[in-house]
Amino acid sequence: MKLTDDIKDKLERLSVLSIEFLDRQWSHGALAGNPGEMERLRTIVWENLWRGRIDPHDLDWNPDPPAPELIAKGLLYIHELLTRGIWEDFKKELKYWKATSGPTIAPPGFEGLEQYGFISKDVNLKIKFPGEFMPVRCSVEGGTIHFFRSTVDAIPAFLDLLQGLPLDHLHFCGNVECDRFIVQTTGHARKFCSAKCQSVQFQRIKRDTDREAFNRYHRENYHQRKELEKRQALKKMKGGKAQGTNT
Ligand SMILES: [Zn+2]
Repeated sequence: MKLTDDIKDKLERLSVLSIEFLDRQWSHGALAGNPGEMERLRTIVWENLWRGRIDPHDLDWNPDPPAPELIAKGLLYIHELLTRGIWEDFKKELKYWKATSGPTIAPPGFEGLEQYGFISKDVNLKIKFPGEFMPVRCSVEGGTIHFFRSTVDAIPAFLDLLQGLPLDHLHFCGNVECDRFIVQTTGHARKFCSAKCQSVQFQRIKRDTDREAFNRYHRENYHQRKELEKRQALKKMKGGKAQGTNT
């Protein structure tokens, strides 16, 4: 599939956002105690999720005063909103779609109906909010209504980011024990998240292939052994008969 510049840009953004933010975890204390890392994460989210389109006066995102505890709280809220809210469920569905996106084989009795598809390709994802509600700050300072929308806007911004992305550029690491989400941003297929995972999976395949050879060897040997035992038993029987005729 030929990628448009818009899709290429989205793939890049999702790649950075998933590796650096969505698929990581922090405690509030660890984050608040590391202002440098918080600033880096805030830039990543600001650039790749909102693309800079966020109210600079939004108090959830830019608390006043800018206490590290409050900044960490805001960052973790967005993280939970996106991951538990939709990203984790979305990845599950994505895995299912990818596993079932091969050519469809009709069950017996339904031949010829392949083009109608037997696998559901749409699903109702349930967006969950941390807690019982989603807060949105509203201010009437200056006599007009003003919403600070960073929380509410995070979800539409995320849906915009995912919209239109091609399935064959979204992967899960080929190392079955890693299974990390990876985005293919170029024409080169990415099957592993790292060289380490690639080597681990190759070792596993090699071991499994060797085990199969080992099993086959013993299976064949088993049949040979049984064959031999059968022949020996037959020989004994014949020998017995021969002895019997002698007496
Ligand atoms: Zn991996």
